[in-house]
Amino acid sequence: MMRAPRSTGLKPVHVVGGGLAGSEAAWQIARHGVPAVLHEMRPGRSTAVHKSGQFAELVCSNSFRSDDAEGSAIGLLHAEMRRLGSLVMRVADTHKLPAGGALAVDRDGFAAAITAAIEGEPLIDIRREEISAPQLDWDSVIIATGPLTSPPLAETIRALTGEDALAFFDAIAPIVHRDSIDFGVTWFQSRYDKSGPAGSGADYINCPLTRPQYEIFVDALLAAEKIAFHEFEATPYFDGCLPIEVMAERGRETLRHGPMKPFGLTDPRRPSPKPYAVVQLRQDNKLATLFNIVGFQTKLKHGEQVRIFRMIPGLANAEFARLGGLHRNTFLNSPKLLDDTLRLKAIPRLRFAGQITGCEGYVESAAIGLLAGRFAAAERRGEPQRLPPSTTAHGALLGHITGGHIETTDSGPRSFQPMNINFGLFPPLASGTGRDGKKQALCARALADVEAWITAAVPHAAE
Ligand SMILES: Cc1cc2nc3c(=O)[nH]c(=O)nc-3n(C[C@H](O)[C@H](O)[C@H](O)COP(=O)(O)OP(=O)(O)OC[C@H]3O[C@@H](n4cnc5c(N)ncnc54)[C@H](O)[C@@H]3O)c2cc1C
Repeated sequence: MMRAPRSTGLKPVHVVGGGLAGSEAAWQIARHGVPAVLHEMRPGRSTAVHKSGQFAELVCSNSFRSDDAEGSAIGLLHAEMRRLGSLVMRVADTHKLPAGGALAVDRDGFAAAITAAIEGEPLIDIRREEISAPQLDWDSVIIATGPLTSPPLAETIRALTGEDALAFFDAIAPIVHRDSIDFGVTWFQSRYDKSGPAGSGADYINCPLTRPQYEIFVDALLAAEKIAFHEFEATPYFDGCLPIEVMAERGRETLRHGPMKPFGLTDPRRPSPKPYAVVQLRQDNKLATLFNIVGFQTKLKHGEQVRIFRMIPGLANAEFARLGGLHRNTFLNSPKLLDDTLRLKAIPRLRFAGQITGCEGYVESAAIGLLAGRFAAAERRGEPQRLPPSTTAHGALLGHITGGHIETTDSGPRSFQPMNINFGLFPPLASGTGRDGKKQALCARALADVEAWITAAVPHAAE
């Protein structure tokens, strides 16, 4: 739809992609008094999974997950977004369906209502066109083209950001909350005590397996249920990034000479007998609350991952912040490339939002769209940028994308991988609290801090 936007005297912010992130970003820009041009290629050109020309189409599940703002990180994100005037959350609440503690929506009603809201917003000019490269005279752009960014634009982004900065598949290893690991069984050590450029020689958490435990583990992997790839994904295996179950299929000893190598590792409390195999976990975030299982990217079903990975000594009670996966995806090495307000450091007129930044999920993508829209609007209005506190769900997610992750340089897939919001991304509480009490305390702190942030920093907030 072509419509002359209301005149504000301000130049527009160009938003590329009208998915969850782009729709929310354009809405926020307009609600902060700045004109936006929203470029969406559908319906003229579609992706492999979208089916309509509607904005914010949900391509798979219709669930926004738990709506519990007192005990779940995603429910907390919902609550913060509502407080920040999110269009996506307002429409989701209007089109919700019965789903127990989850927020599920009528997908057609949801997308139609988002589309109607955007079409009815006088400060948003909609252009149905594919963008291959942002025009040079666009001085403020938000790229929110998602996991299935069209190939010409992906190629432009790849050229702008460098050879290895844009990934086309994720390769996700499970991540475990550190405080759920049994340190009576595991020990800290780097292989051969090597410290490397940033290490101490004791950087990994090591989980030892005896030969019988290893054999049982391999049998479990071989028998486990796997998730099939979508037809459009093709099979993205490349050496250095094989799913562990595929490695197990290649030979019973393959894992023992790959990610479960025991060599160069000795438990000082039990120096002999040496373990037959060792699973290693490596610090994943600067807060040191999360550790990933090194080399354990997998297509096992989620329930199977929990069951089988808890067979690993030391992980019997593991709580997972993220389970493994391997999907077609398009995402940046954001911690390296983006500044605090999601701008490309090398070309600050370009900002990114949504799943392409390395968050995961409908709600997280919309939340990052919300922040990108607010940042772009504040910049256009000449207002100071104030970041959400790291104690809030928005701040924690933004921190993961723009700097919370620890980059490692081992061979294999790049270490920064997409992530849902989870409590491991939040700064720990000052004092020890029980597990359930801890979640409630983190939520209460976040809601108080988001309130303070809105009141102090955002003159247009809380519509
Ligand atoms: C197969 C699949 C299943 C998924 N299932 C789930 C799920 O069940 N639950 C969940 O929470 N998340 C799921 N996701 C992740 C989900 O896609 C994202 O979480 C979310 O949609 C990302 O929001 P986004 O705005 O970043 O991207 P999108 O919602 O994909 O929006 C991107 C938009 O950009 C447009 N676009 C792309 N290139 C161009 C271009 N060059 N010019 C103009 N427009 C362009 C696209 O048409 C699209 O409208 C799934 C992803 C895939 C691929």
